[in-house]
Parts: sequence; C-alpha cells; structure tokens
Amino acid sequence: MYRKSTILLVDDEEMIKRRLRDVIADDYEVLDASNGQEALEILAANIDRVAVIVLDLIMPVMDGFQFMDEFRRHQEYDNIPVIVATSNEDWHSEKKCLEAGVWDFVMKPYNPVLLQFRIRNAIDKSRMIMTERDAVTGLFTRFKFYREVRLLLSEENEETLALVRFDIDRFKMINNFYGAREGDRVLQSVASELRRISMVFDRFVYGRMENDVFAVCMPFREENIDLLVNAIQINLRKVNKDYNIKLSCGVYVINDDTLDVSEMYDRAYLAAKSCKGKFVQSIVYYDESMIEDMRQEQFIINEVNRAIDEEQFEVYLQPKINLATDCSYGAEALVRWNHPDKGMMSPGEFIPVYERNGIIGRLDQYMWRQVCKLLRRWLDEGRHPNPISVNVSRVNIYNPRLVQILKKLITEYQIPAELLNLELTESAFMEDQDMIMRTMSSLRQLGFKIMMDDFGSGYSSLNVLKDMEVDYLKVDMKFLQDQELNGKGEKVLTSVIRMAKWMHLPSIVEGVETLEQVDFLKCIGCEYAQGYYYAKPMSVADYEAFIAKEEAMGAKAGTDENIAIINELWNTRSNTSRLFDLLETPIAVYEYRHGKLELLRTNIRYDSDIVFDKDISEQEYARRVQAERELLSQAFAKIVRGDFCGPMEYELAADIWYRMTVKVIGKRADTMIMMVTFFEISEYRIKREAEWK
Ligand code: C2E
Ligand code: CA
Ligand code: CA
Repeated sequence: MYRKSTILLVDDEEMIKRRLRDVIADDYEVLDASNGQEALEILAANIDRVAVIVLDLIMPVMDGFQFMDEFRRHQEYDNIPVIVATSNEDWHSEKKCLEAGVWDFVMKPYNPVLLQFRIRNAIDKSRMIMTERDAVTGLFTRFKFYREVRLLLSEENEETLALVRFDIDRFKMINNFYGAREGDRVLQSVASELRRISMVFDRFVYGRMENDVFAVCMPFREENIDLLVNAIQINLRKVNKDYNIKLSCGVYVINDDTLDVSEMYDRAYLAAKSCKGKFVQSIVYYDESMIEDMRQEQFIINEVNRAIDEEQFEVYLQPKINLATDCSYGAEALVRWNHPDKGMMSPGEFIPVYERNGIIGRLDQYMWRQVCKLLRRWLDEGRHPNPISVNVSRVNIYNPRLVQILKKLITEYQIPAELLNLELTESAFMEDQDMIMRTMSSLRQLGFKIMMDDFGSGYSSLNVLKDMEVDYLKVDMKFLQDQELNGKGEKVLTSVIRMAKWMHLPSIVEGVETLEQVDFLKCIGCEYAQGYYYAKPMSVADYEAFIAKEEAMGAKAGTDENIAIINELWNTRSNTSRLFDLLETPIAVYEYRHGKLELLRTNIRYDSDIVFDKDISEQEYARRVQAERELLSQAFAKIVRGDFCGPMEYELAADIWYRMTVKVIGKRADTMIMMVTFFEISEYRIKREAEWK
C-alpha cells in the first residue's frame, strides 16, 4: 500500500495551519504542533514517519530558533529537512536559520503551489542524502564512498593512492558496556577526527562502511597512514579514558586501479583481519600471500565433501608408550589428508579452517568410523588390539547427539567401548561444565575411557580437574618444549604429575623427543609418554609392522626394572603397590635433588612404626621427621658424591633403635630416587651396650 509522507507543521496560528492543511492534505499526512516544545515531543514519537518539518519562527513557549538548537543536537534527525516560514523583511533571521541547519524557506503568507514544490524538493533531496550519508556520523555510506574513490582514481594524477580500512577493536564491548549512545559518540568522534584530517590533504575520501568500520582513500605514504591512525587513536582515548582503544587497520596500496573499488576494499579488509587481537600492531599492509591464504582456505572448505566421499583422509597412528615397560600401549589416531594433487597434508593446514567453520564435526565422525572399522578388522584377524584414542572437537563435545552417535558406532562395528578412547581438549571443559559433565558421565557409563587432552594449555586447568571425572590426563607438550630441563616447565610438570597421582589419574605426556625427557618422566612417576622419541604418527600398515616387531621381541623386560617398580608404586592400586604396603619392613621412598629431599611414598608399616605413632605429640612427630631428614641428607649427599654409605643406626625414641639402609633405585642427571628401609635393632643395641659395659 502506498503510504503518504508525513509533514510536521509547527505554527502557533490555528488559522494558518488550517489553510495549509487544506493545501497539502491530499498528498501528505499532516501532524501539527503549536510551538517548538510540542514539535520536539511529536517528533520524538514519530521519528520514523516525519519526512519534512515546516517551521514558523515566532511562537510562544519555544520559538523556531530554540527549536533548531535542540533539533540539531540529535544526530538521528540529520536527514529530516526543515523548511522555515518567513516574511520578506526578515533576511537577518534567514541567515541565522541557515546557520542553524535549515534547508529552505517559504514566504508567508504561503503560496500553495510554491509550498508543494518546496516540500517535494526537500523530500527528494533528503532521500538521496540518506543513501549517501550515514545517519549516525554524516559520513559517506559505502556505496557513495566507492563512487567517490572511483572518481578520485580517474583524476589525472601520478600520485599513488592507498585504500585504508579500519575498525575499532572490541567495539561491541563498548556498546554493551556503556550503551549504544556511548557507542555512537565514539563513532562520531572518529568521524569528526576524519573531517579534521581531511583538511590536511588535497585528495582524501572517507566514509563509514558499517558498524564500527571506516574507510579512507588518500595519497599513499607510510607517514600519512601512521599519522591517520595515530590521530584517531589519540583522539579516541581522549573521548573516554576508561577504555584503551586500539584500531585494526588494513592498507591496500592501489597499484592496480583497474580493480573494482570493492575488491580493493576486500584486500584492505584481509590485511586488517590479520592484525586483530595483536596488542601492538595496528597497521598491516596487504600483500599477495593474503589472498593466496584466502584462496587456500576456500579450497580446503570446498574440497571437504569430496575428500570424505573418496576417503582421502587417512588415519595415522602414533603409539603411546607405557614408561614402566617401554612398550607401546595403544595409539592416538591422527588425521592426514592425502590429496590427489597436493599430496600429504598435515592437520595444521586444514583442522583450524574446519574448526572455524564447524566442518570439523563431520571430519571427527569420519575418523571415529575409520578407527572402528580398523579395530573391527584387527579383532576379526584374531589380534588383541590395545585401545585407540580419537580426538573429539569442541563442536562434537557440545553436540547433544554425541553419546548416541558413539553408541551407534560401536554397536554397528561390535567394538568394546574400552577400545575406543576419547580425547577431549581441556579448553572445551571451560564452556558449559554442567553439560560436559553429563555427557562424560553417560559416555563413561557406556564404557568409554575419557582423556583430558592438552592439559595445561588452558587457564584454569587445576580447577577443572577437581570437578571432572576423566580417566587419563594428557599433558600438553609445551611443558617439555620451550624449556631446557631444570626450567620452570619441569617443576610444573612434576607437580602436575604428582597431583594427578593424588587423584589416581594416570598421565600421558605428549611431545617427548629425547632420552633425557624420558628419564625425567620416569623419575617423576609419569605412566605414559607419546612423542617422536618413540615413534612418529605412522600409517596403519607401518603401525601394524611396529606392533609385530614389538611382539617378536617379546614383552620387553623393563630396561630398568627398578624404575618399573617405582612406576608401579605410584599406582596405589597396582599389585606392586599392594605388596609394598604388605611388607613388614618400614620403607620410605625419597627424591633427592640439589641437596633437597622430598618424601615420595611410604608403606603402611613405615607410617605406623616410624612417625605416625598415635600416642606421640605433635612436637615429637616434628622432631622425628627432622631427625630422619638430617641423617638422610648427609647420607644422600655422600652417595651423590660417590662415597660409600653403609647402614646407619639411629635412635627413634628412647631405647628404640633402627638401622636405616639407603639404596638408589632410580637416577637421572641431577635427581635420585632413594629407597630407605628401616630395621628395628633395639634389642640388639641393648644387648650390645650391655656387653660393652
Ligand atoms: P593433538 O591432539 O595434541 O595431537 C598431538 C600432535 O602432536 C600431533 O600433531 C602429533 O603429530 C604431534 N606430535 C606427537 N609427538 C610429537 C613430538 O615429539 N614433537 C612434536 N613437536 N610434535 C609431536 P598433528 O598430527 O599435526 O595434529 C595436530 C593437531 O591437530 C592435534 O593435536 C589435534 O588437535 C588435531 N588433530 C589431528 N587429527 C585430528 C582428528 O582426527 N580430529 C580432530 N578433531 N583433530 C585432530
Ligand atoms: Ca589429541
Ligand atoms: Ca594433545
């Protein structure tokens, strides 16, 4: 339905309004007000309707000039034309009106034809401006900006131009936090700074593209661009000192002006995208590799369906090693893309792209199926496969059908759930803990084992761990990587593994590359390792050969049996551990490093006989601990120096004597694991002393 435009008549003389209404009522809807105050109220209630205001100057309550003052304060009224009714002699007020932003005049008394004409003109002009000018800032819109840039490029001029596109980092936050009005204020101050800068250059076109995005076309010199960005940033920081505003600015130096302006803009946008989130860098110049990256990303997305259909994605397997035996115990399935033209691609090239686009969910499920098929084949061939773990990405963790999908898969292939382990990345645990807990508990009820992957790469790992029921901890490889041993990473790793032990969680450390790292992990009681030191991810055929070779060698006797025993000891539920507790001899296991000793593990007999005697006071307890440590410190120091250290006799309490024997059961460069056994010799001492007397 055709809707008439609405005219707001502001005049205090009823007679005049009535006559005017008669003239225009056929073509327009008419609202009327008797003074400026009333007009403002009506306007506020009808902002989307009012197309033109016809304003009398002399009125009671609030006159036309006061009205204009108020009116101009509202950016949202910028595109509403005001036509003022004046009388001949009044050219002074005419000037004042123009300064106040009035568009046009009509003579009083009104000439109906002329008035109609003026109104139509004003409406046409404001429509045009509306598509060319942005309502909030008054700057060119994208459409108009592109046209103006085209004009600029067609000028005869040797000077190179640049297309600059910038936006305000975290602008949404400003809007949410301080409100839309404050957001508008920020945008307006960018606009006014742009206007100011535009005076410095002869050739300078600028506009607001959308939300918080602005663009400028100006003569290219690096100093020019720096000046532009700095000026705007400094100005914005003045607008509100509370938030530290940073721009992300991309620049396309126009060296090919046959491109569409929109393509030039896209290039500047690509560049801008790559400085998002970087704290120091505000300006990035477009280079050809960016468009190459974008094409590559597009290619990766386009190809995914075909790749899945044609089974181009392959399962690679990386063995996990049980550190107690140095033998493999299962593997992790890692995807490789064997592309017919591009050859083997590693996940780093395509997984991040699929994660951004949610496609990863499908790829995951494809991998799970491939692994189930593989396990089925091994079972059919009469092998006894160890578990294979698969990665479950975030989108799948929060997929409400996850449990159903996995259950269906293992039913279809008749796979025991224990054979398919699930690796869930730690960072996903942060989002919706209730949901993830429910999912995990359903999965565990079905018999799946869950590993928390990349543990330590996130922020609140410790918090997460205490609430989550997982079966294994996979410790992020960064602890091993960017540190020489003895560094901070080593300390963190040690405490992480210990803590996992308190929670009865076996840990797997990833990214193990050297023998030194292996020894260290054994020393701190880590159960499993995965990494290039033992094996790189390999094809299924290679993995089968790997397992066959291992089996041919027979279950390797642990290269260091003692280490194997210590590792067993860590597992409080293992047989060795039970045996340890059953032994009638008190035993304590200490770690000794750089002159410091730390008690790692004791058996029940030690606890009851040596220190935890219920009847002793706290002071006595502390004294015993202290005395034992002093004696052992000296003994350990001797051993480290390579000196002989025989059994030591020591008086635990009055007339209670023990003989302590120290044995080194594990050693790495600067850490030793010592086992201390206690043998009661009170009777013997008493007898001997009696003999001496
Ligand atoms: P991730 O799950 O942490 O997998 C371990 C990565 O560490 C693998 O990289 C593996 O090849 C690599 N790696 C193993 N040992 C060493 C070592 O000693 N040194 C070093 N520097 N690296 C080692 P890859 O295969 O390139 O996979 C990278 C990431 O891509 C994976 O990290 C995982 O997040 C993701 N990914 C791989 N396959 C899949 C998959 O099938 N599904 C999903 N959702 N993600 C996958
Ligand atoms: Ca993993
Ligand atoms: Ca990992």
